[in-house]
Amino acid sequence: MDIFTLDIRTLNFIVILFSVIYCIGLLLFQVAQKPIKGLSLFSLSIFIIGTGPLLLSLRGVIPDYLSIIGANLFIAAGFHLTLYSLSLFRGYSVKLTKFSSLMLLVVFVGFVFFTYFEPSIKNRVVVISLYMAFVTISTAVVVIKGRNEDLPLATRMMALSFMAYGLFMLLRVVLSLSGAEIKNFMAANLIHQLTFLFSIILIVSMSFSMIWMINARLLRSIHCLSYQDPLTELQNRRALDDAIPLFQQQAQSAPVCMILSDIDNFKSINDQCGHLVGDDVIKVVAKVTLQSLYDSAVAFRLGGDEILILLPNCNLEQAKQFTDELRQSIVKLTIDEQPSLHVTSSFGIAQLSPTENWKACVERADKALYRVKHNGRNTLAIER
Ligand code: GH3
Ligand code: MG
Repeated sequence: MDIFTLDIRTLNFIVILFSVIYCIGLLLFQVAQKPIKGLSLFSLSIFIIGTGPLLLSLRGVIPDYLSIIGANLFIAAGFHLTLYSLSLFRGYSVKLTKFSSLMLLVVFVGFVFFTYFEPSIKNRVVVISLYMAFVTISTAVVVIKGRNEDLPLATRMMALSFMAYGLFMLLRVVLSLSGAEIKNFMAANLIHQLTFLFSIILIVSMSFSMIWMINARLLRSIHCLSYQDPLTELQNRRALDDAIPLFQQQAQSAPVCMILSDIDNFKSINDQCGHLVGDDVIKVVAKVTLQSLYDSAVAFRLGGDEILILLPNCNLEQAKQFTDELRQSIVKLTIDEQPSLHVTSSFGIAQLSPTENWKACVERADKALYRVKHNGRNTLAIER
């Protein structure tokens, strides 16, 4: 059995080391990146968790109230803070955190009682383990149920680590209750040695999954930026290329219409009022276009003053009605910087065929738009 003996002092030291390294690493990460809600508290919580074992290892050197009560309260408070920080990070209510605060008070009373009034290492282990089971299982729930969109694999990995630790703590409670009184904690049996080993695994695993989730969030925001036009916040040409196959698939079961819109005489708006006012005009036209869309409809800025709208589940008659309402909304627009400016747009409409290349549909919509421009602008035309 001796070969399974783990040295608690060494494991203790590794817990402290890992918690300090991860705390500093994550704090530096937070400073270097755009601030992420809950991340600083999460880093701090890892540091506080590591402070507990540090005080624990000074048993005999510092007073008992620090090396026993202080040490365990630091560990408990660290995990409590992990729960709170992850509730913020994952966008979950702080109800469980509030309940955990009450439980912390119970842990404090329990430790005072089993240190000074009825000294018992075994009962102290039961008290702290029960709290740890509660707080880590609650953290697993918060990580899984949080509203924020995070990488599912990373959230599951984090939740699984907390859940496994919580279940291990429950096992520790059962084994401690059925076992004999512990004489010297630093020489306690395998289940207590494993507690330190599992704490190291949990710290590594939760820090790794945190970095993984943050990285996935950054990647997603880069992806969104690369698919969005910065001036109008409409989707851009790259997004259109990606979206087309889905709309072509939809066109097999229901009509899908394409609208090409272009602001009238935009060059002269730029020339007379300046490019900045021109930008404002593009922005407000894009905004009113976005507001006119129903759920599954999408608008893309093709470039310049041109917007392409895709309308699924919409036949040519419905597309005509939709477009005329949008045209009237644009006519009513006012530009703050240039209140006397009248903005109008012209529209070409075509129906997307599931069999033809989508560019052929763009060409037909463009042909219709050209006719409108030729015949005086501020209206719409359909090309079948
Ligand atoms: P038409 O009614 O025939 O469409 O005439 P137009 O003057 O609007 O002609 P066109 O649509 O070809 O003009 C597009 C102009 O849009 C050309 C370019 O100078 C201007 N433009 C393109 N991108 C931007 C932009 O981001 N901001 C501003 N202010 N102008 C832009
Ligand atoms: Mg134009």
